[in-house]
Amino acid sequence: MRHITHWIDGTTWTGESGGTSPVFDPSTGEQQAAVTLGDRRAVDAAVGAARDAFPAWAAASLSKRTRILFAFRDLVERHADELAGLVTSEHGKVISDAGGEVQRGLEVAEFACGVPHLLKGSFSEQVSTGIDSYDMRQPVGVCAGITPFNFPVMVPMWMHPVAIACGNTFVLKPSERDPSASVRIAELWADAGLPPGVFNVVHGDRAAVDLLLRHPGIDAVSFVGSTPVAKHIYESAASAGKRVQALGGAKNHMVVLPDADIETAAEAAIGAGYGSAGERCMAISVVVAVGAAGDDLVRAIRQRLSGFRIGPGLKADSEMGPLVTQAHRERVAGYVERGVAEGAELVVDGRDLSIEGHESGFWLGPCLFDRATPDMTIYTDEIFGPVLSVVRVNSFDDAVTLVNDNPYGNGVAVFTNDGGASRRFASDIQVGMVGINVPIPVPMAYYSFGGWKDSLFGSHAVHGMQGVGFYTRTKTVTARWPLPEERKGVDLGFPVQT
Ligand code: NAD
Repeated sequence: MRHITHWIDGTTWTGESGGTSPVFDPSTGEQQAAVTLGDRRAVDAAVGAARDAFPAWAAASLSKRTRILFAFRDLVERHADELAGLVTSEHGKVISDAGGEVQRGLEVAEFACGVPHLLKGSFSEQVSTGIDSYDMRQPVGVCAGITPFNFPVMVPMWMHPVAIACGNTFVLKPSERDPSASVRIAELWADAGLPPGVFNVVHGDRAAVDLLLRHPGIDAVSFVGSTPVAKHIYESAASAGKRVQALGGAKNHMVVLPDADIETAAEAAIGAGYGSAGERCMAISVVVAVGAAGDDLVRAIRQRLSGFRIGPGLKADSEMGPLVTQAHRERVAGYVERGVAEGAELVVDGRDLSIEGHESGFWLGPCLFDRATPDMTIYTDEIFGPVLSVVRVNSFDDAVTLVNDNPYGNGVAVFTNDGGASRRFASDIQVGMVGINVPIPVPMAYYSFGGWKDSLFGSHAVHGMQGVGFYTRTKTVTARWPLPEERKGVDLGFPVQT
């Protein structure tokens, strides 16, 4: 059995650590590896290595940091197929989708390559007579990243290239369900010339996370995962005095106005609802059909659902893979059962899907509900599987109220041909990322990614200038160089500008 272990201080960890957790191949249902779960020894070693590496890395010149970032960016690009293969083998998503996530992660590394520009401070001459002011951005210290299973390359890369570019050192605790890609990324950082200890990987479950949250050697915590855990991370890390950003779960709506092109909207809803088997934080899980749009939309989605290919992610023509674990598959199927019991119309039922030659894989075919209502659990809960629910409302205002009343606020989309309606929608909607005729509006790396309400706890989103803000502390200097004849003697007054 392959064994996946920590990466600490520039090398594979050979010391003792806690127990192990199984890593499955979701397409066969078989265990393919065991990952070591970090205990206090491993967490102390990783944080200790990051602490020791911090002073030298914080002092490394911008030129040196930039050269390493460019080399890392190049290595990730050259190993993109290999990384995508690791993602698919442990997560289950199809290989083209895994390639897409590597590409989106790479874009953050490219953004971080511009760090000399991003860290420029400002300078004001003569703010008072003979006094100048300037500010600078300095690193925060040792940063921890705790990440979910659904984007094992991209989500950690929302964090570590920016944190490292800003002069911090980093301890990544990836998901225990698909941990291999993070170790490969650590090797690529080392190959790029990153000094040992600047980037470390400690595997584990909640026990390792709680050790990191309380560890006195950690200065900042970035988290991405489900909302209950995000809230726990935010509260625990903040009460331990750490800077924290915690991105949570989602319930993303796609509002379809009656004037929209229904066929285009249906295709978009299918891609955004069932892509990656619905295991995306930006997946559309609710289609809000306004007025007359409902019947045509449900027909158009239903017609297309029998047509797409479900199969092992590594098979080139598969369009949708299995779910990540059997437990998750059962949880999602349980929601479908509850939706039926609560009175929603199950238009397409994917629960009986079986894939020849892969009968023990964690399969669940696409499920489509019509006439879901806001009180049903299929509407209130984040299902995180290939289950799309259509909710029917009467008007534009009803759609906006529905979305705004939802406690999540990650992503939302509106489909319409009416520019005025879309402009009003973008302005009035209480959600962090908005798509206009774009179903999954994931911002580019030079903008910031983050939701509102229960989808993000803390004041900073990831990457873009909010990422740089999170991973730096601003220091403002007020400087005066008086000549001997300009000395003023003792003055107990509050300084005012002259
Ligand atoms: P999760 O919350 O179960 O786990 C996330 C991380 O937290 C993992 O590293 C896990 O080991 C750790 N963890 C789990 N339970 C914990 C606990 N009780 N205490 C401390 N740590 C714990 O999430 P997941 O199932 O891996 O990922 C799916 C979730 O992530 C979905 O809710 C999805 O919406 C969310 N997500 C959000 C975003 C975003 O940008 N907002 C992006 C990707 C995924």
